[in-house]
Amino acid sequence: MGPRRHDPAAVAAVAQALTPLAADGLRLLVNPEERRRLSRDAYDYSPVLAARLAAAEAELVVRPVTVEQVKAVAAACAHHHVPITMRGAGTGNYGQAVPLLGGVLLTMTGLQAVRSATTDCFTAEAGCRLVAIDEALAPHGAEQRLLPSTYRTATIGGFVAGGSGGIGSVAWGFLRDPGNVLGMEIITVEPQPRRRQLMGDAAAPLNHAYGTNGIIVAVTLPTAPLRRWRELLVAMPGLEQGLALADQLRTAALPIKELSLYDQQIAAMVRPLQGGVAGIGGCRLIAVVAAEAMETVKETLAHHDARLLLQRPQTAAGSLRELTWNHTTLHARAADPAWTYLQLQLPPEPAAVLQALGRQQGEDLAWHLEVVRSQGEARWAALPLLRWQGADALAAVMEAAQALGCTLFNPHVITVEDGGLGVVDGDQVQAKQAYDPAGLLNPGKLRGWLERGASA
Ligand SMILES: Cc1cc2nc3c(=O)[nH]c(=O)nc-3n(C[C@H](O)[C@H](O)[C@H](O)COP(=O)(O)OP(=O)(O)OC[C@H]3O[C@@H](n4cnc5c(N)ncnc54)[C@H](O)[C@@H]3O)c2cc1C
Repeated sequence: MGPRRHDPAAVAAVAQALTPLAADGLRLLVNPEERRRLSRDAYDYSPVLAARLAAAEAELVVRPVTVEQVKAVAAACAHHHVPITMRGAGTGNYGQAVPLLGGVLLTMTGLQAVRSATTDCFTAEAGCRLVAIDEALAPHGAEQRLLPSTYRTATIGGFVAGGSGGIGSVAWGFLRDPGNVLGMEIITVEPQPRRRQLMGDAAAPLNHAYGTNGIIVAVTLPTAPLRRWRELLVAMPGLEQGLALADQLRTAALPIKELSLYDQQIAAMVRPLQGGVAGIGGCRLIAVVAAEAMETVKETLAHHDARLLLQRPQTAAGSLRELTWNHTTLHARAADPAWTYLQLQLPPEPAAVLQALGRQQGEDLAWHLEVVRSQGEARWAALPLLRWQGADALAAVMEAAQALGCTLFNPHVITVEDGGLGVVDGDQVQAKQAYDPAGLLNPGKLRGWLERGASA
């Protein structure tokens, strides 16, 4: 039997089974407002998803504080066939943590221990905030390799299950690249849940699977050497000069953690990109570089007609980090909610694509580019802002981008596969069979599982 949809009696039975654990810190949240709030994530950047997901809501939110309590939740839900949707901080963008069939929303923010931190790696419970992990690593001269721009709020479990990369991707690629996640501890969803340690390849199918195929209770990730990072905001006359400058910076022998470009329209719209200096037009580049690289960077800027608007040590709060990656979209939407966005990997020579799409879309498209390492090579990823003009217009832009050689990671769809390369990953489906045989975890988000069901 598969998951029951919106079955109040079954959910009540789960709540009853879990109530005794409240004495040990487990929380059961039934308040409708709280349930509604926690049943959402940041999907409203997509008007398509906003319309599709607005009504989805869990009947019960459960917040365990120990692994044993997670097991109890899994057992109760398996016993009563109640769907479970996992939640970290709920900052995902694609409705990843939205419970399509209702049931239990399992929020992991109560599992916060950093179990171990060394120079080489760390093991942290899933609900641990990324910022807390760096605090634990700092005394060991280490830091995390990859951070989403939601660094201050996101959990490590949510990042591994739902995120992809971000600050650090210029050097370390993406979370799915072999070597960026060393292992996971998971709980299976069965009447007698098992606690499994998945190391190396065994953990890969749960990486970026939206919590569809296992409850992650802890992860082990490798670290990078801790550096004194400095963040820079640079003004450039145009995108072309920005591309050339970024190319020179990334090919020099400089430790770089972030390199991103914003066209004139974005620079004018997102106020912090003006750097507190009035009347300077043009594009912007954000770079995060090691302190010892600063002199070389300044010399490079001088050769590129670039003006340094701001430089300062990178800190946890108030950082330029919160202008990069999908924070750019957030700021643009704050200025004008008609903006939505796309996620692309550009072909190796991106200039022609930028020009062609720019010509087609005019002021309805604005370029935000990020340098990333993809399969060992430096590439440009793009999160262009797009003025919402309806689903057909959106589809036409996506088609045009693909025809120009871009790889699309569609942020307007809800399944793991459709937000990725569009293909079913058999290992993810097999992992679901092994760790969630009744298909209770985040139903509706793993297309391979649904299609397998249809053909069975
Ligand atoms: C402004 C903004 C900027 C962003 N920038 C970036 C960025 O730079 N890079 C990036 O990759 N993402 C980015 N994101 C998306 C998101 O913030 C990150 O992916 C973040 O790491 C998600 O963490 P979370 O704790 O909020 O996870 P949630 O949103 O709560 O969950 C994400 C997914 O993981 C699943 N999940 C959560 N916990 C578990 C668990 N313990 N076990 C199994 N499954 C689980 C959920 O079901 C969901 O499918 C951004 C989002 C916003 C709104």
